[in-house]
Amino acid sequence: MRRERLKHALWASLLSLIMAVTLFLEPIDWILWTNQSRLRPVLPSNDIVYLQVDGTISAPDYPAERIKLAGVLDRLREAGARRVFIDAVLEKSTSAAADDRLNRSLARWGPQLAFVDRIDEGRDGGEERTDAFFADGHGRVVQGTNDAWPNIVWTMPYVYRTASGARPSFAAALGEKSGTAAQTFLVDYSLPGSLIPKADLKTLSQDGDGRAGQWAGKTFVLGVARTAISAEYRVPTDLTAPPSYVAIHAAETLKRGPIVFISGIVVVLALAAFLLSCAAVNDPRHRRLAYLAAIGLPVYLFLVSALAALRIELSYALPMLALYGLLRSRSNWKRRVAHIDPDTGLPSFRALSQHLGQLESGEGYAVIAKVHGYETILKSLEGPHRGSYMMKLVERIRVGDPRMTVYVDGHYLAWRVALPNEARLREHLEGLRAIFAAPVTVDARSIDVGITFGAAVIDSGQAQRSIAAALAAVEETSEALEPIMLADDSTDADTLWDLSVRARIDAAMEAGEVFCVYQPKIDIAEDRLIGVEALVRWEDPERGFIPPLHFVMQCEKAGRMEYLTRYVLQSACSAGKLIHFRGSLITMSVNISATLLADMRIVGIVRNVLQATGFDPNYLTLEITETARIRDLAQARVVLKALKALGAHLSMDDFGVGAANFETLQALPFDEIKIDRQFVSRAASSVKARAITASIVGLGATARIAVVAEGAETESDLRILREIGCWQVQGYALARPMPLTNLLQYLESGPEGTQTATV
Ligand code: C2E
Ligand code: MG
Ligand code: MG
Repeated sequence: MRRERLKHALWASLLSLIMAVTLFLEPIDWILWTNQSRLRPVLPSNDIVYLQVDGTISAPDYPAERIKLAGVLDRLREAGARRVFIDAVLEKSTSAAADDRLNRSLARWGPQLAFVDRIDEGRDGGEERTDAFFADGHGRVVQGTNDAWPNIVWTMPYVYRTASGARPSFAAALGEKSGTAAQTFLVDYSLPGSLIPKADLKTLSQDGDGRAGQWAGKTFVLGVARTAISAEYRVPTDLTAPPSYVAIHAAETLKRGPIVFISGIVVVLALAAFLLSCAAVNDPRHRRLAYLAAIGLPVYLFLVSALAALRIELSYALPMLALYGLLRSRSNWKRRVAHIDPDTGLPSFRALSQHLGQLESGEGYAVIAKVHGYETILKSLEGPHRGSYMMKLVERIRVGDPRMTVYVDGHYLAWRVALPNEARLREHLEGLRAIFAAPVTVDARSIDVGITFGAAVIDSGQAQRSIAAALAAVEETSEALEPIMLADDSTDADTLWDLSVRARIDAAMEAGEVFCVYQPKIDIAEDRLIGVEALVRWEDPERGFIPPLHFVMQCEKAGRMEYLTRYVLQSACSAGKLIHFRGSLITMSVNISATLLADMRIVGIVRNVLQATGFDPNYLTLEITETARIRDLAQARVVLKALKALGAHLSMDDFGVGAANFETLQALPFDEIKIDRQFVSRAASSVKARAITASIVGLGATARIAVVAEGAETESDLRILREIGCWQVQGYALARPMPLTNLLQYLESGPEGTQTATV
């Protein structure tokens, strides 16, 4: 679980990191920054005053405006203004007299006055400049424009490169700060537009009204109102503010001092570290608190950065937390589903073990009922009636308490009985048996019920053990002789464990805990991969890794061998189809227990899987394991022939160990033999093992049967196999079994990339 959480946290972090690197969520940061700007209003320096002039000032056919501007400039001089920036581009007007009048006023300002030229920072890089007739003898500064959406700048240069050389940016000149051409600074929009000092033509001309002197020493920006088609930058907190306000905000930022920038990559890395440490917390209560903190952290950073004049790219925290939440809830949901039996809607034995674990010890008994002949009854019923058959039985169990929780797993039903002692329990179960004496009616049919009970004292510390003990007890019951069994403490742990494995195997497959890994089969003459063998794995969340031989045997005891084989075949053939689709035409070997050769059902299973997956049967090899257990060779031969008729190849696994192998080889239509690994791995040290290996290879050559050596662990094993002339080899020396994703990688890039991730 912890590993899964860490994996999810890593995935969420990785994807957010990719987004951060590609600036995928930039617009969200713009929105966040705009809102942050509103959170911490700052005061203006009061050095810079905005004065709005008529928008037609730039238009050549409004000479009257030029004369008005000349008047304004004269007034500003009288008022003692220090500097003036004319944020408009002038060309000569239609009246030479008006232009001369303006030039006379301009002349008095000399370098204290500057014209703001425009440079298009968008695609064309074009410039608009005030005519030299006006501009000569004055300063020239540059402001960018860009008609690309959304016309908002968060960083600005100190210097623009123009056709006529480097010029200071309007903002830097206004803020009286300089920097190099490569340098930029962040613009802070926290100053509310309403606080920017404004003068208007009326107050300027009201000389001697007692306010004269308030403009002395100030810097004036003469700008025009924003029009609908202005391509100039906008102020994000007030989209209608005049274009000059952007430079005023930028200049005020420079006067206040720089703001610090923290990129999304840093945020993602820091939050990833935090999320990973949250995911590593084992105690669920502490973990929940840690998650709350992880959600609170971006909110906290949002506020702190607003107040501390930091600019952080916080947007990537959002998908990271959302993605992590999504991955977690998906697997939690899957786990919950695994706790519910799909046919009846009743909770499964997994849920039982969880619930028992939460009880106080000694709180009564765990009772398990075994429904006899269940498989046969199921086969005779149509889909929806199967669930209702089980529910009829549950109704009877609940006769004393209609709200009691009953758990189900295959042909077992379980519940908790809170009775003080064994005598009372026995009495209770006898009563139940009497109730079950009458047949149940399903689908207008009357069905007899064979049911027996096993029970064990609840030990909440070892809930799984209590269930296993009850299972062990019920497995020993018999309908006729001993229908009720109470577990005694003497049942050994191994037996209990085996029984619980049997009870949980179905749920494990549904929960995806049972999966396949693939071990490459290599042609060592050409150093080429020719096929893979599917090997089943069970990773139990509580017990960890369960070796295949162990649970394959348990599956067989529980009568679930066909189910497991279908599951493995289905996974392997789908994987094989995918591998073929990707262009590697290799064979897929699947292990089939010889115990399945007693009847024709396996043929139906293989046929159905081949049909469902569309995998080419010519590439399917069925490795028959445990051939020593074939009781009826004639029957096995019929089944194997039918399998061959489907197009599949047959291999005899573990050749050389167990009994009757030569006889079996002779009697059955195998296309391949696999030399057992005990001969292969000893061939280097034992003359006998080497002789056996060589003779099997010789046998294969003479009988025209392919020979595969398995279990080559070292270089010397490989060398000997080459000497003997055995070319198809499987073994750790070449490649270990690996999950499908690693196999696909292996097929593409060769063994290098996959050495470590083996199973
Ligand atoms: P097998 O079919 O003979 O598979 C080969 C076993 O040898 C695999 O063990 C593999 O991991 C192991 N092996 C391969 N190369 C080497 C090596 O160089 N050194 C050593 N020490 N071992 C090596 P695994 O996966 O534990 O499987 C054990 C057995 O379980 C298989 O033997 C097979 O009989 C059975 N089995 C596995 N999957 C299935 C299945 O889906 N159905 C059935 N019926 N049986 C299966
Ligand atoms: Mg095998
Ligand atoms: Mg083998």
